[in-house]
Amino acid sequence: MRVLFVSSEVAPFSKTGGLGDVAGALPRALVELGIDVTIVTPRYRGIRPENWGFARRLRTLAVPIGATLTDVTLFEGRLPGSRAQVFMVDCPTAFDRDGLYGVDGQDHPDNAWRFALLSRAALEIARTISGEPDVVHAHDWQAGLACHWAKQAAVPPATLLTIHNLAFQGLFPKETLDVIGLGWDGFHPGGFEFYGQLSLLKAGIVASDALSTVSPRYAREIQTPAFGCGFEGVLAERKAILRGILNGIDTHVWNPAQDPHLAKPYHAAALEGKADCKRALQKRLGLPARGDVLLLGAISRLTHQKGCDLLLEIADALTALDVQVAVLGSGDATLQSGLRSVAQKHPNKIAVEIAYDEGLAHQIEAGADAFLMPSRFEPCGLNQMYSLRYGTLPIVRATGGLDDTVVDWDGVHESGTGFKFDELTGKALFEVIRHAACAWQVPKRWRSCMLRGMRQDFSWGASARRYAQLYEEITRGSVSARRRA
Ligand code: ADP
Repeated sequence: MRVLFVSSEVAPFSKTGGLGDVAGALPRALVELGIDVTIVTPRYRGIRPENWGFARRLRTLAVPIGATLTDVTLFEGRLPGSRAQVFMVDCPTAFDRDGLYGVDGQDHPDNAWRFALLSRAALEIARTISGEPDVVHAHDWQAGLACHWAKQAAVPPATLLTIHNLAFQGLFPKETLDVIGLGWDGFHPGGFEFYGQLSLLKAGIVASDALSTVSPRYAREIQTPAFGCGFEGVLAERKAILRGILNGIDTHVWNPAQDPHLAKPYHAAALEGKADCKRALQKRLGLPARGDVLLLGAISRLTHQKGCDLLLEIADALTALDVQVAVLGSGDATLQSGLRSVAQKHPNKIAVEIAYDEGLAHQIEAGADAFLMPSRFEPCGLNQMYSLRYGTLPIVRATGGLDDTVVDWDGVHESGTGFKFDELTGKALFEVIRHAACAWQVPKRWRSCMLRGMRQDFSWGASARRYAQLYEEITRGSVSARRRA
């Protein structure tokens, strides 16, 4: 089985969120199942391919977009720790700029062209270098056109589009069609039109043999008006081919027993190091170094989706409880300044770092006692799984992947792995935190809850097998057709 992965982010080369994590970890697990994976991704500013052992191909590749050919250079190498082949598409006009998708909250105006180039380059690489794939596995709107164009081949490969977050739909003015060479005959509600605009996500949705999203509950939610962002109709229509496959986590990178960012390693059978991590975190963030206080962590894009406004709303009230809060995030300017000012007001209780800081993210996962994710919606969410692995009890809103991965604490029956709440209000968030603070008072029970979470398996193996099955299903007809051709 040969799979062409098209993704605008691949960790460790590039990442703005969960997409990068998935595209960097899933191929590794697929290769272990014997699948031949080729990944195509941009070479953004700041990526030094030579540092990852990549070699520059001597010949440029001419990528047709509309009526023009764009020459790109390719860097070829492997995903670290894996045999998965990676091609980085180097085109300075498209990718050598600040920000993957934009700067200061403003999208780059030519994003449609930039990611059309990525999608088309991926298909050209397959055609001319790596070999025709059995499956094109595209990720999010940035790769939607890979599915669309793949289906125009004489003997098309099977196509799978994974939607990591339906809130990002790749919407552009309809005139963009001419820029990227899409035919106007596809610009209708059954094609890639979305209320008068061009949607590259929809181009992928309608051209795919299968669709997947990153948790079973989110797969159901996006077929409803509350979560479907206007796509609920087209997704419900295609529900027979829509799957929810829970993301795994990279258990090498997120492993408290050998995490280079931590003050002290620890694991389920030897938890002492976690107290050192807590102290080190408190010290780093200027919070009083107390072992007995409940330390709540949060790491997030600061956006409406993540419910950071709810946290801000209850920040003052929270200080009445014996808790500390450590927030790491960046994003929305109003949320940033709101969080900064509550931290200034309560320096002994609330610490806020406005940054993107991988090391600190690991230190918060390890040093906090509980982890806050009050998301409005959450396709899968990774931090709650990191938290479970780090013995940090997740406090989550019961939505999407959060609901699928966290089991509500039950002190009587000694079951559960964290705390959940339903109602999307500051009051409900405050109540669940108060509940957690009460549970914290019984260390023995708290510790059993930690251990239940730490012993769970969130590695990629099981999810990769589901993707492999899906590849088998969608290629059943087309592989034999291609072999005959
Ligand atoms: P999303 O993809 O919606 O942002 P996920 O929970 O799926 O949310 O993935 C977020 C990933 O990005 C996690 O690996 C998380 O640790 C990381 N992350 C988010 N914000 C920051 C930050 N400010 N600093 C470091 N890592 C961050």
